[in-house]
Amino acid sequence: MHQTPQVIIIGRPNVGKSTLFNRLVGKRIALVDDQPGVTRDRRFGEAVLLGMEFTAVDTAGWEDEDPGSLPGRMRAQTEVSLKGADIALFVIDARAGVTPLDEEIARWLRGQNVPVVLVANKAEGRAGEPGLLESYSLGFGEPVALSAEHGEGVADLFEALQPLIEKDESGDTHLTPEVNVPVELDEDGEVIENDLSAAPLHLAVVGRPNAGKSTLINRLLEEDRLLTGPEAGITRDSIAVDWEWTDPKSGQLRPVRLVDTAGMRKKARVIDKLERLSVLDAQRSIDYAEVVVLLLDATRGLETQDLKIANLVLEEGRALIIAINKWDVAQEPSSLFNGIRAALEEGLAQLRGVPLIAVSAVTGKGLDNLLNAAFDVREAWSRRIPTSALNRWFDDALSANPPPAPGGKRIKLRYITQNKTRPPSFVVFGTRLDALPKSYERYLMNSIRRDLGFGAVPVRLALRSPK
Ligand code: GDP
Ligand code: GDP
Repeated sequence: MHQTPQVIIIGRPNVGKSTLFNRLVGKRIALVDDQPGVTRDRRFGEAVLLGMEFTAVDTAGWEDEDPGSLPGRMRAQTEVSLKGADIALFVIDARAGVTPLDEEIARWLRGQNVPVVLVANKAEGRAGEPGLLESYSLGFGEPVALSAEHGEGVADLFEALQPLIEKDESGDTHLTPEVNVPVELDEDGEVIENDLSAAPLHLAVVGRPNAGKSTLINRLLEEDRLLTGPEAGITRDSIAVDWEWTDPKSGQLRPVRLVDTAGMRKKARVIDKLERLSVLDAQRSIDYAEVVVLLLDATRGLETQDLKIANLVLEEGRALIIAINKWDVAQEPSSLFNGIRAALEEGLAQLRGVPLIAVSAVTGKGLDNLLNAAFDVREAWSRRIPTSALNRWFDDALSANPPPAPGGKRIKLRYITQNKTRPPSFVVFGTRLDALPKSYERYLMNSIRRDLGFGAVPVRLALRSPK
């Protein structure tokens, strides 16, 4: 018999777990499991949610008498059940807001290695709004606002579950192979970041033909793995090269995976075609990379094509570094450097603050600076700002420059949360958001980048009004 994914409903007493279970399952309760001493009654049911099938498990009634702490028995029983579960629906009462017990359950759930969908129940009308906003602080991303009793928000729950559950050709549902396990928080509720130091830095070098990409890559690898030559576009096909960079300051070896798709250019014959292909190359390299180095040619200065590639990198949400190559033959280096810096910012406002580094692929000058900068921007690109710190900053940013009041009516911005890293992505909640001018969004994004240490790393901002 085909087994559908198991979705377990978890939460403190009275948040509406049974009501949700009944809404999902209706009368299709398949079996009641009663094993005294191990688990209390576990209710299983075949749930159907807008055509999506899964097995729902209700844990209501497991709680101890003492409602003030995560009850030992509930913990033990839930732990047993969680072993068979594929997804946890963590239910809170949006009207009551986030309680200490919710926080305790959240902390515990994070250690369970099961994907969690946060459900803010009792959210009919607007009464659940404050709790809904607060629940972001639990660290499970965007909550699903739901009213189990009134059946509101069912489509949103479907949307949240859908990426985790897939249907095969025969119509059976499975758990999606690569599910998102939530971020881990430490005892104080701070996110534990993945240790990046051991993960290879995925680096791509892009730029116009003849900027010196192959020479640079060769120099970095210090061996002749890629062919170079004065003729534009002669490189061997290559996708990725793993190597280790020795950080001269610490002596530490740091793994790097260099992505190079310049080989794609090999077949091109004419320069004009090459120019277009360099954008295509860039696109492919960017797909693989965490950090992209855009290589300029000091003897040619900044050209439109360079700005196009820079823009592409930022649009794709990658961290960007700009290196000016052939510094060994640069004329009037300091005015050249400042001129390029100014032209970059004038050409593309988002390039303000982007690391600009003079290098020579031939002499090796500046290459350690380049690698150092690359590791730094990856760190920023992967950084998560805790919700509480973020909202303290947000309050200051709003007082320093309050949102406008078009037609005398204030736009209320209430809360901000970082919902993603790589690139850092933020969601601002408030009301009358469609009246918010683009210039104010830019103010927020620029302030995030400047005040929170993201530099020129691309930052995403979305606006949302709670339903
Ligand atoms: P459990 O202990 O978590 O299983 O919670 P129940 O499902 O027994 O619900 C607890 C109480 O909350 C009951 O009185 C329900 O009627 C009520 N309830 C459940 N869902 C909702 C909802 O969406 N809105 C409102 N206003 N009340 C709800
Ligand atoms: P690619 O098309 O971007 O891969 O560029 P190549 O690596 O093939 O380099 C194009 C030309 O620029 C070659 O003649 C290189 O020798 C030269 N070149 C590359 N880097 C430097 C540098 O740092 N200084 C100088 N003087 N020439 C360089």
